[in-house]
Amino acid sequence: MSDAQMPTAAEIAADVRTGATTAIDVVERHLALIASSDTEIHAFHTVAEEAARSAAAGVDEAVAAGRDPGPLAGVPVAIKDNMCTRGIPTTCSSKILENWVPPYDATVVTRLREAGAIVIGKTNLDEFAMGSSTENSAFGPTRNPVDPTRVPGGSSGGSAAAVAAGFAPLSLGSDTGGSIRQPAALCGVVGMKPTYGSVSRYGLVAFASSLDQIGPFSTSVAESALAFDVLAGPDGRDSTSIPQPHQPVLPVLGEGVEGLRIGIINELSGRAGGDIAEGFESEVVAQAEAAADALTAAGAKVDEVSIPSAVAGLSAYYMIAPAEASSNLARYDGVRYGLRHDGPNTASMMAASRTAGFGDEVKRRIMVGTYALSAGYYDAFYGKAQRIRTLMITEFDKVYEDFDLLLSPTSPCVAFPFGAKADPITMYYNDVCTIPSNLTGHPAISVPFGTGEAGLPVGVQILGPMLAEGAIYRAAEVLEQAAAKLAGASANEGGQ
Ligand code: GLN
Repeated sequence: MSDAQMPTAAEIAADVRTGATTAIDVVERHLALIASSDTEIHAFHTVAEEAARSAAAGVDEAVAAGRDPGPLAGVPVAIKDNMCTRGIPTTCSSKILENWVPPYDATVVTRLREAGAIVIGKTNLDEFAMGSSTENSAFGPTRNPVDPTRVPGGSSGGSAAAVAAGFAPLSLGSDTGGSIRQPAALCGVVGMKPTYGSVSRYGLVAFASSLDQIGPFSTSVAESALAFDVLAGPDGRDSTSIPQPHQPVLPVLGEGVEGLRIGIINELSGRAGGDIAEGFESEVVAQAEAAADALTAAGAKVDEVSIPSAVAGLSAYYMIAPAEASSNLARYDGVRYGLRHDGPNTASMMAASRTAGFGDEVKRRIMVGTYALSAGYYDAFYGKAQRIRTLMITEFDKVYEDFDLLLSPTSPCVAFPFGAKADPITMYYNDVCTIPSNLTGHPAISVPFGTGEAGLPVGVQILGPMLAEGAIYRAAEVLEQAAAKLAGASANEGGQ
């Protein structure tokens, strides 16, 4: 599938603003592509055709009346189906919320609308964002547009696939342990997980509240920055929102990495001594090393750095996230939301509703989380995991005294075939490089950088300290340019 003919978000906004094209034309074009191709990909649960058309008419009216239609005028945006959209179903890919229609918009949706963007539909995910492949969706998986026999990654697989397939130039995902960055890597697009608290979580259905963060998918780094500047900023409706005004990142793009100190995290580099570490693909490791070389060539000072606790992140996360999920998901009780299966008394009604409404992975997390929080085991499991989290924060903060940014592969492997990671532990291992930034609350981005096994896209991750999105975007742009240059050079070689 090719999205070569689809315009970028920046092009659409520029053309709609000047009247060179209309928002309704843009929307119709995207709806037509979705209608012809999404039967195969299944990026969307809901295509909001009528709502999109009427929003587009509103943008066109604003332009005609000489009003500013906003920086994302007419840009179709696909929204992960765990963010509330007023009047449009929000299922979380779960039977328990199958027929739930929220009465309000998430703050991110409001901000997109105010910026002139058009919500084009709601995208598939692993149920309640628990997974790394979109195979845990109760409504069937999404296929990777680059190779439809493979997964798009997860949990925001539908949003990553929507952008990769050209269904929308921008989409939103949520990232609790890597769910924006990993699918971005596997689908060959850009995915950014902002600093915890920089983008409001109001209206995001909670998975693990101390880790969840919303961020954008796009085909380029500049468009990711454009979207981030629209999304970020204080929100009184989210008590964890950072109260300081957002510092726009668009103005620092193009500043390059001259003089920046960038560390390659030994523990997450995919090398164990001279060998490839278990679970990593050699091509992925090689691309991350080529990315480090590209940053050096652009004037950064690149060095190896050791962060011993980084590998322990995986175990800590798979205690903390289920613990928080077990509490957050207690609200689905057959009374207030969605599915209800009746029983002779309240307790059996609740048990029947939850048994029928949740899939296997969600049940596994609820059980692990409940166990980890239970009186006799709290200290041994949840308490220990929290201590590891604190240790990680301390170690990362220390490393950021000497480094501006860090680098690693995003995912240890490229997109894998459906069913290839049926064992949960193997699936969990996929998150080894992405989880640390969620536990620390730090921002991180995945940028496409070359290809790996079977010519599939590889993503490289750039991590930074709190609110370092500006530096992250600068480095990401350098990698984007270097990747384009390397791809051009190898295409030339192939042609000779
Ligand atoms: N794959 C991880 C999990 O299953 C991360 C999910 C996410 O970031 N939402 O929990």
